[in-house]
Amino acid sequence: MRWHPAELIKKKRDGGTLSAEEIADLVRGVVDGSLGDAQLGAFLMAVCCRGMDAEETAALTLAMRDSGRVLDLSSVPGCKVDKHSTGGVGDKVSLCLAPLVAAAGVPVPMVSGRGLGHTGGTIDKLQAIPGYRTDLDPGEFVAVLLDCGFVMAGASAEVAPADRRMYAVRDVSGTVESIPLITASILSKKLAAGIDALAMDVKCGRAAFMREPDAARALMRSLVDTGRRAGIRVTALLTDMDTVLGRAAGNALEVEEAIACLRGGGPADLRALTLELAGEMLCLAGRSEADVARLPDLLDSGAALACFRRNVERQGGDPRVADDPARLGRAPVQVPVEAGEAGHVADIDPLAIGLAVRDLGGGRRQPGDAVDPLVGIVLARARGASVARGDLLATVHARDRASAERAAVALRAAITIGARPEPRPLVVDRVR
Ligand code: URA
Repeated sequence: MRWHPAELIKKKRDGGTLSAEEIADLVRGVVDGSLGDAQLGAFLMAVCCRGMDAEETAALTLAMRDSGRVLDLSSVPGCKVDKHSTGGVGDKVSLCLAPLVAAAGVPVPMVSGRGLGHTGGTIDKLQAIPGYRTDLDPGEFVAVLLDCGFVMAGASAEVAPADRRMYAVRDVSGTVESIPLITASILSKKLAAGIDALAMDVKCGRAAFMREPDAARALMRSLVDTGRRAGIRVTALLTDMDTVLGRAAGNALEVEEAIACLRGGGPADLRALTLELAGEMLCLAGRSEADVARLPDLLDSGAALACFRRNVERQGGDPRVADDPARLGRAPVQVPVEAGEAGHVADIDPLAIGLAVRDLGGGRRQPGDAVDPLVGIVLARARGASVARGDLLATVHARDRASAERAAVALRAAITIGARPEPRPLVVDRVR
């Protein structure tokens, strides 16, 4: 490193502003190991406490992007647009959105992550499709994108390696909740995929990474501003994560629900959010209002489903799941959960549901844990529905009876029957 790490750490600790060169030097040290874990932890804590201004955040984002391989998508015509969600429970929107936007003629190079803790991840959901490959090399990534109009893959070890190490140290040093660090972490990986524009779905509520709307709004502004400084257009939506999105939580169960949406059906909130984000992606790509108005028809006509089917085949999966989701398989045990009293579904705690799915084996406690694709929970009734005593509230899909019974207990506690709740808006705010 050109500078002594302690000098740069002290400068940030004391509220100073780091230059782009100093930040690039620190990121070089992250990748080549000359910045030790103690120094990295101290630097991250200094950023967490003192913050970064817009120029520093952009410099950090670009240095992290350039810490590894940056994909060249110039051979793919058109404006390449991706979507990223900060994570939630039941959020299978990417599976519906990528084929829908591709069916509208806008290329979608989607780089996704795995679930962690109570939140699901698109890569885990895709791997519930027998044979589906998400570990594409750059050549395959571009070839699938050209062929299908969209591609969905995990970030390889060569993409933004600085983020990999910084994220691991943030996780154990109490420095995850920093807006500049979150911004740089998300955008560096997206920029490395060669995109031109990004629709951000910033979730807010009990099961979201950002629980408070003010913090979520500050993150939205930071993402939009840093994206602009880094040369891409970003639109951010603030969306509700105070209940489960759709009815299914659990990998294969969510794929099945996404296929229902691609067939023109599925839960109303999933369809609404998919169409909302697809509209934003088309606007980012410069498409007309008339193109946006045609999006529902691409779901209802089967055009988006055809794109999905082609992509599943191209990425090594069984394309017959698009027409026969039973091919995804079923967990061996199903246990119904019934209402103990009459009333309305007043509340569904999404955090409790996410944790119950994780405990069934559908998520991870540690980053390396294996995930069971077939387990999960399907809600029979959404928030606000009326119920009679004995009505089915949800079904647990489990590997064995003991884990199913534990999940059923958690579900009974997570679903409150009472007075009819006020409807909540799905899209709370947007920053363009
Ligand atoms: N997602 C990321 O990729 N990074 C963060 O810091 C937070 C969410």
